[in-house]
Amino acid sequence: MKSKNKLAIHGGIPVRSSYLPYGRQWIDDEDIKAVVEVLKSDYLTTGPIISQFEIEIAAYVGAKYAVAFSNGTAALHGSCFAAGLNEGDEVITTPMTFAASANCIIYQGAKPIFADIEPNTYNISPQSIQSLITPKTKAIIPVDFTGQPADLNDIQILANKYDLIVIEDAAHALGSLYKGRKIGSISDMTMFSFHPVKHITTGEGGVITTNNKRYYEKLIQFRSHGITRDQGKLIENHGPWYYEMQFLGFNYRLSDIQAALGISQLKKLNKFVQRRRLIAEMYNKAFKGISEITVPYQTEDSNSSWHLYIIRLNLNKLSAGRKEIFEALLKENIGVNVHYIPVHKLPYYKQIGYEQDLCPNAEKLYEETITIPLFPSMTEQDVHDVITAVKKVINHYSIEG
Ligand SMILES: *Cc1c(COP(=O)(O)O)cnc(C)c1O
Repeated sequence: MKSKNKLAIHGGIPVRSSYLPYGRQWIDDEDIKAVVEVLKSDYLTTGPIISQFEIEIAAYVGAKYAVAFSNGTAALHGSCFAAGLNEGDEVITTPMTFAASANCIIYQGAKPIFADIEPNTYNISPQSIQSLITPKTKAIIPVDFTGQPADLNDIQILANKYDLIVIEDAAHALGSLYKGRKIGSISDMTMFSFHPVKHITTGEGGVITTNNKRYYEKLIQFRSHGITRDQGKLIENHGPWYYEMQFLGFNYRLSDIQAALGISQLKKLNKFVQRRRLIAEMYNKAFKGISEITVPYQTEDSNSSWHLYIIRLNLNKLSAGRKEIFEALLKENIGVNVHYIPVHKLPYYKQIGYEQDLCPNAEKLYEETITIPLFPSMTEQDVHDVITAVKKVINHYSIEG
């Protein structure tokens, strides 16, 4: 009994004998078959499968258009271009995100402005956004943190009032609902990522969904060097071979090989989301009574697809800091992570002049948060192992216990 309670970090037996990652893909034989079929076909890239994938993604989220990109970051870059962002413009975003949500603003020569997060949902605070709006503000990039939609209603009210474009970073929120509506059809443009830890994967990949035809056309052209062959758009026409590069775009295309994987994965998305919700529910139930940790607060308006499950440590009830608890969980073979180091705290952002104490709520969350494993192919045993390890470690460091 004694050795079972002894933490692995102190030489005890780990809860698991094998390492459980915090997230991973779920690829089955159907997925593999879909990819192999494309490998045997005429087009490996820029063929018919890309458009099919785009049509299916758009239909799934209820948007008119979807434009696939080589990754989510490229898709965000495309959306900042389509929004017309330029030098001198400011864009308000959250620091509690992956760097790409802010980097895409800098790619266009514009300036990210970091608004603080809500202390309960950890999503960008509309009040903080409002306080940062200036005549230079052109857009808002909210992030649906962990899968819980940002306060899109209040954000849209601000966008309407100040004539701002909303680009939603929904890398965490494929399959999430906001006020009963699927994420992907609400904001001016919405980005999803198909990185292997996200809800569905294409290896690398991303997409922008939109209801706006003008954005759609710009995005299509941007991801392919700024080139068009569209007769209606050509300024000149030298003959059937003729195309025009009308602005500086990039090669940000997704391949048909990847799109085939995407189409096959999309068929399983509802099942994946259902599993994620079930596991989150198991965690909520298991941790509800533990006063040393706070489980994720969910608003009435949101139905999260649970990309991440984060626990927040109530450090005044613990004899160890986040780092020690993190390391202890890792030694129990639980793949923990931290989402996120606030973007303005990253050395590059520090170098370009961002103050380090800009967003107290985000900075405080960063000190207290740990991400625990959550992915659809986790077994019941995996989930129980995580719960056992969290309880074991928290119990050990609890001041009361
Ligand atoms: C994953 C992610 C991205 C970037 O997506 P990639 O496909 O990896 O480029 C952007 N924002 C957030 C919040 C993400 O989680």
